[in-house]
Amino acid sequence: MKIYNYGKQFLDDTDKKSVQEVLDSDYLTCGPKVKEFEEAICKYTGAKYCVSVSSATAGLHIAMLALGVGYGDEIITTPITFLASANCAIYAGASVKFADVEEKTININPAEIKKHLSEKTKAIVPVHFAGQSCNMEEIYKIAKENNLYIIEDAAHAIGSNYKDTKVGSCKFSDMTVFSFHPVKTITTGEGGAVTTNNEELYKRLLALRSHGMYKDGEMKNNWEYEMRILGYNYRMTDIQAALGISQLKKLEAFKRRRREIVEFYNKNLNLKHIEEAEYSNACFHLYPVMVNERKDFYFKARENGLNLQVHYIPVHLQPYYKEKFGYKKGDYPVAEEYYDHCISLPLYPELNSKDLDEIIKRLRKCL
Ligand SMILES: *Cc1c(COP(=O)(O)O)cnc(C)c1O
Repeated sequence: MKIYNYGKQFLDDTDKKSVQEVLDSDYLTCGPKVKEFEEAICKYTGAKYCVSVSSATAGLHIAMLALGVGYGDEIITTPITFLASANCAIYAGASVKFADVEEKTININPAEIKKHLSEKTKAIVPVHFAGQSCNMEEIYKIAKENNLYIIEDAAHAIGSNYKDTKVGSCKFSDMTVFSFHPVKTITTGEGGAVTTNNEELYKRLLALRSHGMYKDGEMKNNWEYEMRILGYNYRMTDIQAALGISQLKKLEAFKRRRREIVEFYNKNLNLKHIEEAEYSNACFHLYPVMVNERKDFYFKARENGLNLQVHYIPVHLQPYYKEKFGYKKGDYPVAEEYYDHCISLPLYPELNSKDLDEIIKRLRKCL
């Protein structure tokens, strides 16, 4: 029996060849491919600057630090996300508030953000869940009115559009963070990138990525460098960057196929699913549906060769968050109701129409 997972990377010979070329070259890291990948992301998203990093988690961490988020500050994010969207604030010494999601899109609800603003709020971290952009203009308005920063967690959303902008353009934010983990839409093995239009932030991100070192002015011509802030080793290698360049070329084709599969499921399954808003043209990363008796369904699907996944256990219900901040069940009812029923079906470009018919047949047996 053919096994279908909820997601899967797609690599072909051109990807493998581009990695091989780096292995045969002089630079495995800190070489020309990193710069080339960053330029390709700028060109694709329309952002002025891009800093590639070792993961989106690293990118979110240095985004927080670049903005000076720290002790005594609060950020606001969604409970329906991967842990890293919230953890990054805690790495920086700040604390985390959540805002409940919209029922239709399962993205952070701008009206709910307003309820959780305080004197301490410093930044909003909207997450483009399942690949669909959040309502960015509404969030931008709140940020402007309250003097807040916005860091978009676009780990799911490379290739997606918000109105006439690409996610990552930073038209309505200070920075956008992408992930290239293999379950995401394009991959570099592990990896991530931060885009911005702000030169100051760009310079700080570059330094934070590499030990807080600066090499500017006269120092460019000799051995000197200065450590002015505390940084990390969050660099991406040229091996990863070469894979990223090659994968990025396939992104539009991936997007087309992903949208076709979503449309197919929408038509052929009578299950509640997230709805696409009028401002969105998403490169869908996930296809979550709502089912009754989710646990039964999950195990039946597994017996039928479908390895599905739940995205996500609300972050505020994780033991660490409950203990540290006093969150409890009932705090974010829309997110919790969604969590009780959600399960993500297989969605990746390699699925052909025969696969899809087979998946539908198996799903019907489990419902
Ligand atoms: C995967 C993911 C991350 C973390 O990405 P890594 O590259 O694995 O560090 C952050 N936020 C969201 C929403 C994610 O799905």
